[in-house]
Amino acid sequence: MGHVDHGKTTLLDYLRKSNVVDEEFGGITQHIGAFSVRLKHGKSITFLDTPGHAAFSAMRGRGARMTDIIVLVVAADDGVMPQTLESITHAADSNVPLIVAVNKCDRPEAEVEACVEELSQHGVLVEELGGDVMAVKISALKGTNIDALQDAIITLSELLDIKADPAGLVEARVIEAKTEPGRGRVATLLIQRGTLKAGNYLVAGTSYAKVKNIYDEHKKVLKAASPGFAVEVAGWKELPSPGQEVLQVENESKMRRVINYRKLQEQKQKQDSEWEEIKEKRKEHDRQHQQRLKLRQDAGLVRYTKHIVKKIELIEASNQPVEDFTPELLLIVKADVDGSLEAITSCLETYDCDLCTLETVSSGVGVVTENDVELARDFNGVVFAFNTKISPQVLKLADDLNVTIKQHNIIYKLIEDVKGLLNKRIPPAV
Ligand code: GDP
Repeated sequence: MGHVDHGKTTLLDYLRKSNVVDEEFGGITQHIGAFSVRLKHGKSITFLDTPGHAAFSAMRGRGARMTDIIVLVVAADDGVMPQTLESITHAADSNVPLIVAVNKCDRPEAEVEACVEELSQHGVLVEELGGDVMAVKISALKGTNIDALQDAIITLSELLDIKADPAGLVEARVIEAKTEPGRGRVATLLIQRGTLKAGNYLVAGTSYAKVKNIYDEHKKVLKAASPGFAVEVAGWKELPSPGQEVLQVENESKMRRVINYRKLQEQKQKQDSEWEEIKEKRKEHDRQHQQRLKLRQDAGLVRYTKHIVKKIELIEASNQPVEDFTPELLLIVKADVDGSLEAITSCLETYDCDLCTLETVSSGVGVVTENDVELARDFNGVVFAFNTKISPQVLKLADDLNVTIKQHNIIYKLIEDVKGLLNKRIPPAV
């Protein structure tokens, strides 16, 4: 890991090239997301060469620990940079030990001491300064000291006694997965436990495989793969996802049972989330609906205000007493649900008569409130309540303010009542 341009790719390329010693397999190394370097003393180190890859972020997100050691690459001519700090934090959070590779030491601008000093200010105290973090000065470009870096990795792994059990059922992680012509669905797996062999049954999420072939990065077919190695595995029925955990199961029937169970769980989760989505949509719909109702109420008030303005203008213009103007019936309508409210208001809107103005000052869903009563008083209106209860306080206030509240639970009776009130207001024909 390390900051961009500090030399990660160059280092991996050097390590990879140094590993292609024989031309036995045509020397074609394919990119499988990881490669193993075989060392002189028979040991191997597997490097994961795509640490910015989706698989790694997915695993980090799940708190899974994929690597035993992090090699932190810091360019000696640039020092500690934002991604250096991120890597340090990641190592600390996931409890993975660090080795520092102080890179670009061949450059005249390299300031190794300053770089190491800077690292110590961020909690990475190298051995030279009395700490316990190994630091190796390298040049990835020139290949200087790469052996020393590999030795440091081996030493640390021995010091920490990093071991994995090659016996028992296989546990692995998906690094990459792809469909390839001629080989079908293949996934690069990092074996973490057990020894993988052809014919093994594997599950990863809801995908599964009967291992057909195991390949290394030179496309060479392997008989088996032990912990610490990354290999390509063919035989998947569906492609697994990068980052997924892979488990071996004893036999085909168990594999099918596990997959069926996981598929059911997945389906259930999907249904649950769909239901949540529906509930959210309903909530949003209700909210918008309430907003529309409020707008309608406000519009009602505006309409009324215009009406009043017009009336005042007329009075001023004609100097006639108010009584001579068209009589009016002003309503405040409250209903239990939106459906009935809409039915009532649309019925009222059909009223068309010049002899008496009919205006809904305010309408809404809910109980009659003290506000409604006060509004009725201010506008000299009548409150119509449909299918809603009226509290004693509201009744008392209405009584005190001399406001009429009419209660109904059948729409046509409410409309009849409104008609009756209108008729009362229309002056008898002369
Ligand atoms: P990455 O972004 O960390 O993968 O960095 P790269 O490996 O792409 O390196 C960035 C640049 O630094 C390239 O131009 C490399 O050639 C150069 N570089 C990497 N390592 C060294 C080194 O050890 N010495 C010198 N002089 N240049 C290096």
